[in-house]
Amino acid sequence: MTVSGVVVSTGIAIGQAVHIIEQDASVDFRTINLAGITEQQQKVSDSILELTELLIGGQRQLPEDSENYDLIEADILLLNDDELFDILNNEIKTQCYTASMAVSRVFEQHAIEVESIPDPSIASRANDIRALAKRLIATINGTLGWDMSFIFEPSIILAHDITPAEFAMLPFQHVKAIVLQTGGLTSHTAILARAAGIPALLNCDYTGLSINNGQQIAVDAINGLLYKSPSEDDLKGIKLVVDEERKQQKQLTAYKDQKAVTLDGQAVTIYANAGSLSEITRMSDLGSDGVGLLRTEFMLLNSTEYPCENTQFQHYCDALHQLSGLPLTIRTLDIGADKDVAFFRQADEENPALGIRGCRFSLKHHQYFKPQLKAALRSANHGSVRLMFPMVNQVEELEDILVIIESCKEELSVQKIAYKQPKIGIMLETPASILNLDSLLPLVDFVSIGTNDLTQYTMAADRGNLELTCTYPSLSPSVLKLIKIAIDQANKHNVEVSLCGELASDKNAVPILLGLGLKELSVNISNVLEIKSLICNSKLAEFKLIAQKAIKAKRISELNS
Ligand code: PEP
Ligand code: MG
Repeated sequence: MTVSGVVVSTGIAIGQAVHIIEQDASVDFRTINLAGITEQQQKVSDSILELTELLIGGQRQLPEDSENYDLIEADILLLNDDELFDILNNEIKTQCYTASMAVSRVFEQHAIEVESIPDPSIASRANDIRALAKRLIATINGTLGWDMSFIFEPSIILAHDITPAEFAMLPFQHVKAIVLQTGGLTSHTAILARAAGIPALLNCDYTGLSINNGQQIAVDAINGLLYKSPSEDDLKGIKLVVDEERKQQKQLTAYKDQKAVTLDGQAVTIYANAGSLSEITRMSDLGSDGVGLLRTEFMLLNSTEYPCENTQFQHYCDALHQLSGLPLTIRTLDIGADKDVAFFRQADEENPALGIRGCRFSLKHHQYFKPQLKAALRSANHGSVRLMFPMVNQVEELEDILVIIESCKEELSVQKIAYKQPKIGIMLETPASILNLDSLLPLVDFVSIGTNDLTQYTMAADRGNLELTCTYPSLSPSVLKLIKIAIDQANKHNVEVSLCGELASDKNAVPILLGLGLKELSVNISNVLEIKSLICNSKLAEFKLIAQKAIKAKRISELNS
């Protein structure tokens, strides 16, 4: 039995099904009647037991000297604290609270007390306590969700949706594929799956297949199929696809040590996008020309504490070391919208994608921005660093950023800490930034076109919504016109221009982009070799003809046939 889905990361996998249920951590605010007290108290103790067992299972997978081991240990101890348990029971009895209400109130009170402790290393535990309360409430609601205890053998994750932070927590040694019912083509979870080389199907409605946890399933993320209990014949067919895929991958390895130069001599810089040190290590083996986009927020998704300047400096130096002289483009924190981080709880926003994200967040929270800037300035002394800012829309924002950079430099000088001026760049992710490039370009050394967000904000279409990203792909007449303006303007001002959205990894789009005059791309790590091979086997003259035709297109269908 099969169902189809949309491929966002290619590959094939066979494994046991693991359903990841969406957590429901909502609190039941109703007051209960006296007859319900014992039932609610029982719910609390059962849920504590269930969650404790889950945590112990997860902890067993970790080395005892790891930081995460200790964090889980602290959670287990708190959950099983007798005094806390008595207070929970008492609140239910005396206040007639539901189990979830009691947990919410009691844990919040405890978090506030911990937060007020002068020692910052203890006070920072307050966030962990709140996170634990959410998991306990989700357990009470019967939606614990992240049941990692199932994920000890080759597994395929089935979920309605998963966030980038949840994706980053998956045990990759066991997770062979993910299948989601929702998700957009350029959503960050899709990007992460591609970068990790994990086959992924989106928009896959598998509910009709009635798949149980532990049942064998297979994902063919080339033809876009999910198989329930694949038959011998199915497996034979899947094996053929695997063999073909392997053959193609093997052919592509020939491009590892080759520069991307067209047959008529146009060199193209192929940077890669990265979100972790391990990706940078992998990338160096693919012969890319450096990192064109380091999504620094990806390195912190599940950090409960914001790393200090020295730690960040060390990360950047490690990355530079891996790159052996190639450029590292450090994009400052781009949190908000679908990228939640554990160390900071954003206030709820009506429209998070239009809210405090990208440089807006950094300009509002200097306590995070300045340590990151200082770490980047210091690392520039140890290699080729480009410093890039996300979601810059207006000159005022860029000017504010530049003033803060100057103040960081002054502080470092006073502290007698060595630093160097990196190249400064901005991402072009909104029509506003591109339409005002005349004013922005004189202030920067480079720009990078972020087509994932540029498409979202041009089309007013949520990039996390598959229905919309299929209807409004990045390869569209309007986005293409904006890209052309950006390239032409940057060339006119002699400012380096690259493109780091997922469009740079799309082999149908690359001929058009290069034909429009782009000479730098920053691609998803899993597409580096494919894009190099495309360039090495084509002529720029042909790309120019394709681009001339494409820029005249009136319809999306003319560009995406
Ligand atoms: C983009 O918006 O195109 C981009 C590269 O940034 P991100 O995907 O991280 O938002
Ligand atoms: Mg973006």
